[in-house]
Amino acid sequence: MYILLPGPTPVPQPIQAAMIQGMTDHRGSEFTRTKTEVLEKLAHLFGVPDLDHVAVLPASGTGGLECVAQNFFMPGDRVLSVETGLFGQRFSEIATAQGVTVDHLVVPWGQAFRPDEILARVEAADYRAVLVTHNETATGVLNPVSNLAQRWQRLKRAPLLIVDSVSGVPSVPLSIADGVDVIIAASQKGFMCPPGLAILALSARAREAVVDQRPGRFYFDLRPYLQGHFPYTPAISLWYGLNTALDLLADEGATKRLARHEQLRDTVRAFAAAGGLTPLVASGIASPTVTALGLPEALDPATWRKTLEQSGLQIAGGLGSWSSHAIRVGHVGAVDLGLIWTGLGLMAPALPYPERALAAALEHIRQVDQGSGKEHRS
Ligand SMILES: *Cc1c(COP(=O)(O)O)cnc(C)c1O
Repeated sequence: MYILLPGPTPVPQPIQAAMIQGMTDHRGSEFTRTKTEVLEKLAHLFGVPDLDHVAVLPASGTGGLECVAQNFFMPGDRVLSVETGLFGQRFSEIATAQGVTVDHLVVPWGQAFRPDEILARVEAADYRAVLVTHNETATGVLNPVSNLAQRWQRLKRAPLLIVDSVSGVPSVPLSIADGVDVIIAASQKGFMCPPGLAILALSARAREAVVDQRPGRFYFDLRPYLQGHFPYTPAISLWYGLNTALDLLADEGATKRLARHEQLRDTVRAFAAAGGLTPLVASGIASPTVTALGLPEALDPATWRKTLEQSGLQIAGGLGSWSSHAIRVGHVGAVDLGLIWTGLGLMAPALPYPERALAAALEHIRQVDQGSGKEHRS
C-alpha cells in the first residue's frame, strides 16, 4: 500500500530492520546505551543542553498532550488555548478534562493565528500557559510559532509557551532554542517510525515548572522520565527504530529536509490547482507536511478514497466541517518524489483535467530540480 497520510507515514527499511532486534532487559547495559544515544540525539535536535530536558513516553501524540496537561497545570490554573482547527480544539479538551480553566482564541479554519492577537490576550490576563499548534493537521496551515516565540521574550510576565508540533517537527524545524517552552512530537509523523512514542522537549524554565503533587497523575508523571528512568516497561522496539531514525534525520539535515517537504507541498498544490481541485489554504501559510484540497461537486471524497484504496493508495479524509467536500494529502516524513509521483498518478484519472494536473506536477518538479540541483534529494 502507498500511503500519503499525515500519520502514520512510511517507515524506511533501515528503521524496520532496527526494530526486529530481539528483546533485552530495559534496565541492562545494552538498552541503557540505546537510551542514552536516543536522548543525546533528541537533545541535539531540540536544542536543549541536557538529557533531562527531553522525554520519550509510551503513547501516541495525544498521550504526550495529556502528559503535558497533567505535569504543568494544577486544577484551577488558567490557560489560553489558540485553536486553528481540530487539533487545537482537542488540546483545549484535554486541558479542560484535567480541571484547567481554558480561555479560547478561535481562529477560522484555513487561517493561521496572528501573534499580535495572542500577545494582546496574554497582556490582558494572568495565564499559566498558552497552548498553540505548530502545524494544524486538520487544515494544512503552518502557524508562525517562531515569530510568536521571538516576541515572547519581551513580555513582562511570560506564560509557558507550549507547542503541539506533532505534525511539524522535525519535518519543519522547531527547537527550544527558538524560545518556546514545551514541544510535543510523536514517532509516526516526521520521525518516520510506527506510532507509539510521544516525544517531549522542555526549556530550562519548563523543567522547573513541572508540578510536584498532582491528583490524578500516575503513569504520565514526567519526573522519572526526565531523569532517564523507566518507571514502567518502555516500548523497546520503537526505541531501536527511533535511534536509527535520528541517524537518518541527522544525515539529511534540517535545511534539506525542510526544502524536500516544501517541494512535495508545492508539487501537490500545482497538481491540484491545474487538475481542477482547490487548495484550501493560501500559499503563504501552507503546511510543508499536509495539504487539504477541496473537490468538485461531482467527486465525493469518501467514494473517491475507497476507489483509491482499491488501487493501492491511501490518502486522508477532510475533518470537521471540511469532511463533506475535502481530502488531505500527507507528505511528511520519508515521502520522496518517487512516492508523490506515484500517488498523484493514481489520483489523476478522477480529476476534471488529469493531463494538465500531471503536466503541472512534472513541470514543477523539473523547475525546482533545475533551480537547486541535487540539494533536495534525500
Ligand atoms: C497526529 C496529531 C496529534 C496526535 O495524534 P495521535 O493520533 O495521538 O498521535 C496531535 N496533534 C497534531 C497536530 C497531530 O497532527
